[in-house]
Amino acid sequence: MKVHILLGPPGSGKGTQAKQLVEKFALSHLSTGDILRDAVSKGTEIGLRAKAIMAAGKLVDDDTVNGLVFARLQDETGAVLFDGYPRTLQQAEALAAFLSAQKIEMGLVADIEVPEEFLEARVVGRRSCSNNACGAIYHLENKPPRAENVCDLCGSPLKHRADDTSEAFRSRMEAFNATFKPLQAYYRGMANYRRVDGRSKPEEVFEAVVELYQENA
Ligand SMILES: [Zn+2]
Repeated sequence: MKVHILLGPPGSGKGTQAKQLVEKFALSHLSTGDILRDAVSKGTEIGLRAKAIMAAGKLVDDDTVNGLVFARLQDETGAVLFDGYPRTLQQAEALAAFLSAQKIEMGLVADIEVPEEFLEARVVGRRSCSNNACGAIYHLENKPPRAENVCDLCGSPLKHRADDTSEAFRSRMEAFNATFKPLQAYYRGMANYRRVDGRSKPEEVFEAVVELYQENA
């Protein structure tokens, strides 16, 4: 058994890469959300604790998340790809201690790096169809509509969502970086840590990830 990790900021395409990687190599795809829902529905002790925390409108703490993930790892036999875990430095350190105690090997840690100005341009140039039933998404540079500011599919005007402004983007990145930077610094010191240039096309990024995965499988 081996555990693999994908890192990357929101908008890096990490989710799509993870999905493809899981399919190509028949990995077990472990997302914290799925593990949480599974434990809650099975009514395990830790699942019930997580449920109570969520019912109180609180964020599930690191120790509870770790406990859920470790319990789930006991059921796994093949290679595992984490999705959204570890999310904090504390989780990463706890995972390393657990893996070492269980003699489970750590595989690839692939970090999909996309400069913030790239991510910002992707977000700020985005335009959405104002017709909610349609919901088509365009990009001023990468995927412009045929007629300026008009949806190709339904003819409704396009809008620039409040979430897609520079300001909203920067505030999201700031919150993300506060947790992510220490996590990233921790993994950078590891032998299996690899950077992937996330500025390329998704299929090129995937090729790079596949190559790295094969070296660490
Ligand atoms: Zn539309």
